[in-house]
Order: sequence, then C-alpha cells, then structure tokens
Amino acid sequence: MSQLEHTPMDSILAIHDAARTSFLSHKTRPVSWRLSQLRKLYWALKDNESAMLEACRLDLGRSEFETYLSEICWCENDILFMCNNLEKWVKDEKAPDIPLMNMALSPRIRKEPLGCVLVIGAYNFPIQLTLGPLIGAISAGCTAVVKPSENAPHAAAVMQKIIADALDPSSYAVVQGAIPETSKLLECKWDKIFYTGNATVGTIIAKKAAETLTPVTLELGGRNPAIVSASADPRLAARRLLWAKLLNAGQVCVSQNYILVDRSILPALISEMRTALKEFHPNGAQSSPDYGRIVNSRQFERLKKMLDSTTGKILIGGTTDAANNFIEPTVIEVESITDPLITDESFGPLIPILAVADLDEAICVANSIHETPLGLYPFGTRAEVKKVLDQTRSGGASINDGFFHASIPTLAFGGVGDSGQGAYRGKASFDTFTHRRSVTSTPGWIEGLLSVRYPPYAGKLEKFRKQTDLKPNFDRDGRVKIAWTWLALGLGSNSGVGALGRWVALMALALGLRQWTTR
Ligand code: NAD
Repeated sequence: MSQLEHTPMDSILAIHDAARTSFLSHKTRPVSWRLSQLRKLYWALKDNESAMLEACRLDLGRSEFETYLSEICWCENDILFMCNNLEKWVKDEKAPDIPLMNMALSPRIRKEPLGCVLVIGAYNFPIQLTLGPLIGAISAGCTAVVKPSENAPHAAAVMQKIIADALDPSSYAVVQGAIPETSKLLECKWDKIFYTGNATVGTIIAKKAAETLTPVTLELGGRNPAIVSASADPRLAARRLLWAKLLNAGQVCVSQNYILVDRSILPALISEMRTALKEFHPNGAQSSPDYGRIVNSRQFERLKKMLDSTTGKILIGGTTDAANNFIEPTVIEVESITDPLITDESFGPLIPILAVADLDEAICVANSIHETPLGLYPFGTRAEVKKVLDQTRSGGASINDGFFHASIPTLAFGGVGDSGQGAYRGKASFDTFTHRRSVTSTPGWIEGLLSVRYPPYAGKLEKFRKQTDLKPNFDRDGRVKIAWTWLALGLGSNSGVGALGRWVALMALALGLRQWTTR
C-alpha cells in the first residue's frame, strides 16, 4: 500500500502553473479528449478496487460493502454516466425566452469550461468526495489540481496513484498535505475552488477566493434534523434513521444530527431502535464486521467529549474504546435544545433525541437550531410532511427516510445558506464546472432594422417604446386586470391555448347537438 507523502511546498506553484498552462493550450476542450480521460480514469479505478477497499479499511475501519457502495461503484458509475451523456450536454442550447424580434440573432448558450480548478476533499468519504468533483471538472473540460484530505492518508495515496496512472499529468495533478500545503494552493489564482469539509474552513476558503473574485462551490456540514410525528411508523423510522447514522459510523455530513420526536411516540421509537440494532448487529457493534471506526483519535476525543458533556440520559449504547477509535451507536434522550449534542454537529454515531409536544414545536425547534441545514428528514403523514417542508429550509430532504435523496448519484446535491453553496453529482457536476456563455450573431441583412440604435436619437424614442415596451396586466395595487375582450374570446381562459381548447370543445358540443337534433 502506497504511503502519503506531503508535496514539497516549493513545487506547489509549479503544479498550479502547469495545470493553468495546459488549460490555456485548449487541449482539454474537445469532447473526445475529455472522454478519453474519463475512460482511462474508469479503468484505473477498476484496476485499483482492492487498493481502495483496503485504504478505506485502514483509514476508517470501514467494511468492503460500504466502501464499494459509497465510493468505488459510485465513482465508476458516475464516470459511465458522464461518458454516456457528455455529447448531449456540451451541445449549444437554444436560448429560452427570446423576443421574436431578436430571434434573427440566433441567441444560444455555449457550454464552456470554467478553466483551471482546485478540488479540496474531505476524509469521511475520501474517494467519492474528491474524485466526484474531479469527474465533473474533467467532463466540463477543466484542468484540475486535487488536494485529498490528509485525514484519510491511505485513500489519499491511492488516489494519487490512480490519477498519475490514468490522467494527462500536465492537466491533472495531486497535491498532498494539510493546512500549509492547502494555504499555499489558495495563494494561486483558480477559476473555481470546490471545497468539501467543515464550515469554519469553508469560511477561510470563501474569504481567500473573494480576494481574486474566484467562484466557489462549498459542500459544508449541517445540524440536520429528523422530525418524527405521532402518526409516523416507529419501526420504519427507527430502522431508517439508524441506517443513516450507522453508515460510516455516523461520519456522514447529511445524516440527521438529532431527532425531534412527538412525546407520545417516543417509547415506541426507542423500543424499535433497540430491536433494529439487534437485527443489524446481532453480536453488538464492536464485534460487527459491518460497523466502522472514527477516523482518528482527535475526532474520537471530540466525540467522547460531546458524550461526556451531555446532560441527557443514555438509553442505548454508550461504550467507547479509545484504543480502536470505537464509539458504539448511542441513543441519548436530551432535555433541552441547548444540549451540546443538539447545538453542535456530532459527525459520529451519537443519536440525541428530544421529545416535543407536537409538530409545531418540532418545526420551531428545528428552525431555531439551524435555519439552513444540509438535510431534513420528516416522518409522518403527507399533510404533516408538507407542513414541515413548507415551514423550513434545507439543502435537500428525504421524506420518511434518512438521507435517501443524497444516495441517488444523479440527483444534484448541495447545501443552502451556511450548509453550502452550489451543487454537484450527475449533470450538476458538469454544470458546476461549466460556464454558460450567451452568444448572439448579428447578420448583415438586419442592419436596416438596427438603425434605431444609432445616433442621432432625435425622434426615435417613441418608436422604440412602441416596439419594445411590454404592457403590465396588473394595476398599481398589484391586482390583475381582467381583460374583458380576451375573456369573452377565451370563454374564461386567460391563455391562448386554453381559449383555443375551450372554443374547440364548444364547437364540438354544438356540432354534436346539431347532429342529435336533426336525427
Ligand atoms: P477534513 O479534516 O478532511 O478537512 C477537509 C479539507 O479541508 C481537508 O482537505 C483539509 O486539508 C482542509 N483544511 C483543513 N484545515 C484547513 C485550513 N485551515 N485551510 C485550508 N484547508 C484546510 O474534514 P472536516 O472538515 O473535518 O470534515 C467534516 C466536516 O465536513 C463536517 O462538518 C461535515 O458535515 C462536512 N462535510 C460536508 C460534506 C458535504 O458534501 N456537504 C461532505 C463531507 C463532510
């Protein structure tokens, strides 16, 4: 297994310059070139599957099943999805909403690569969160420098090997390291910075990027609520929310950070959680080959401190083992929204539950804890779920489940507000590294029609206004004016298509009546 070696600080600028020079050579623009890079990356992933499985076992104590599911198969399928759709996505788009008089200019949207981009990965899904954005960057025709998380060192080393084996070295490179190396990278001018990780560092990245007006995609964390109403199925809620917290030992940005449960259903939910845990890990989590470990002792100590500082009551679990960075899935009934298990993101297998009187209180509490979390998970009737969605905000949401929306590889994924900005995955990965360049082309024969725009302007304003001014269909109080003539013509329909449909129906009825009466 290759070992992580930090990139020498004095070579980082040259790595950036090479990637920028490569972009400016235009070699990444042809779709055929991008496809060949993606295809080579696909086979390099295939050839290194066992190395990636082993790396994630060493870094996160993770089972092969979870690593295959969440990293390897994910990236491989993503590449194939890109390869199958790229020709379609890169095509110019006809611009929508163009006034008839501008159609002669053939307005269209060209899809252009943003340029030379920086991808900074996080440790919890070290391969998916690093190669996922890279796949988007390649598809869009960008060059890229990738900085994997130093906190998953084995995965970082394997990815470096894969990228070096598969991709054009002048266009795609890896810089290994921690804060000093990343800070050096941030000194360079990028055309986009794609960062995944915590919000504190996200703020550093955004500030640094602002100095050079560099756009950023920030994939940050969240204190995501699950809300279990009185009418929810406690067995389903228990199994699904435990799945979302057991995967990767809870080190999932989008899993629920806490559960708000209607007081009346709390005993049933806890009882179902006990049953589900026994089903998932019949001999306990510690001896289960399916349950991972906390990434390192620093994160273990952070979680242990959270657990020690709660004033809540541990209902299930609570065992920890510092020697193995093991934390048992632990369900804690907390009393207050100020409990550290509620106010802080745990990013581990701690499952605080707070009982609430009803759905209104749950919504109020969730909004007061974090207005814009990454995910939100309401369990209940259709009307209850709608109420929750109508009165909250979040990057995404899964109804009656833990983060299922984030498990669909082709569904755009991202935060809102302070849980992130921008989105990726599937076509969104292509879009996030693509500039939509609006282009028009003015034919020579149109010159006569354009005479209005040239000085002298005398006498032209009235003519121009007649040609271009749209007419409001509302008065000064914001009320829509009823167009009586149109209403009569449209028989009550406000749209041309509706009017036509009604007239056709009326004619058909009249014809039918005529035939019937003349029989
Ligand atoms: P991490 O420790 O792997 O750090 C992420 C990256 O930031 C690393 O590459 C690291 O080198 C870099 N970094 C750290 N300090 C830096 C600094 N001062 N300047 C520049 N770069 C620096 O991961 P983490 O941040 O601890 O990850 C956990 C957090 O990330 C959680 O909040 C989690 O919710 C969030 N997260 C979000 C997503 C998402 O897709 N939205 C995915 C995974 C994790």
